[in-house]
Amino acid sequence: MSGSLDGQVAVITGAASGIGKALAQALAQAGAQVAIADLNLPGAQAAAGEIQAAGGRALGVAMDVTDEAAVNAGIAQVEQALGPVDILIANAGVQIVHPIQDFPFDAWKKLLAIHLDGAFLTTKAVLPGMYARKRGTVIYMGSAHSHEASPLKSAYVTAKHGLLGLARTLAKEGGAHGVRSHVVCPGFVRTPLVEKQIPEQAASLGISEEEVIQRVMLGNTVDGTFTTLEDVATTVLFLCRFPSNALTGQSILVSHGWHMG
Ligand code: NAD
Repeated sequence: MSGSLDGQVAVITGAASGIGKALAQALAQAGAQVAIADLNLPGAQAAAGEIQAAGGRALGVAMDVTDEAAVNAGIAQVEQALGPVDILIANAGVQIVHPIQDFPFDAWKKLLAIHLDGAFLTTKAVLPGMYARKRGTVIYMGSAHSHEASPLKSAYVTAKHGLLGLARTLAKEGGAHGVRSHVVCPGFVRTPLVEKQIPEQAASLGISEEEVIQRVMLGNTVDGTFTTLEDVATTVLFLCRFPSNALTGQSILVSHGWHMG
């Protein structure tokens, strides 16, 4: 495979499934060598195998993004196998829904650790190499919930807002070192994470699954349409290809107008 990201090494967390998996395929098609880092090692290896079968270069890596030692070991494994990291996409995520008064503290801490500790630890692990080579792009997988709130999603909304702060701080610290950062903020995309929420939200809100889709998930879009994996991949590729620091520290919404930021 050859393309506009030829020779670049990309690490994508949570890429055994859903959005991360689609991003790994898109970056590989653009010529990048991709490391698929996930808690689910068999899934990561299967996703890497699909890319290799299509002629790309990919590696499945075991990584719990909440564990500093596991993150550092995983990034070291990638650097040894593929070379220094040019692109990090901190994408691993989960959803847990409860009203605030019933939200188990352990579940709150777990969600924040995956989204925020994971983004921080993976960034910290790749930055020395990026700074040494004066190049790098870090993309955090935010959400329309980086800008909007929804009932039942206090932990998720808090975490996704928090990523804006990390991305903006990295943009300021990394600028002098040739490192850029962004938050990509999709609307609802039909991945396993979202499929699971439909019956959960229907039960919690006392409405039908169709109403969850039409009212809760798509009610604020301009056209009642889900965002697609391709929409997110096209946006991420644009940001990875952008050639200068003119574009950094941004939050890009890909949400059918759910939020206009
Ligand atoms: P998904 O459930 O399909 O995939 C998530 C992946 O993250 C899984 O492979 C899982 O194994 C991995 N993961 C979970 N915990 C991990 C950990 N501790 N360490 C490493 N990997 C871990 O979900 P998705 O919908 O593809 O979501 C990916 C990202 O996109 C998440 O950050 C999510 O919040 C965000 N997002 C999703 C949507 C959507 O509508 N699907 C919208 C906006 C943002």
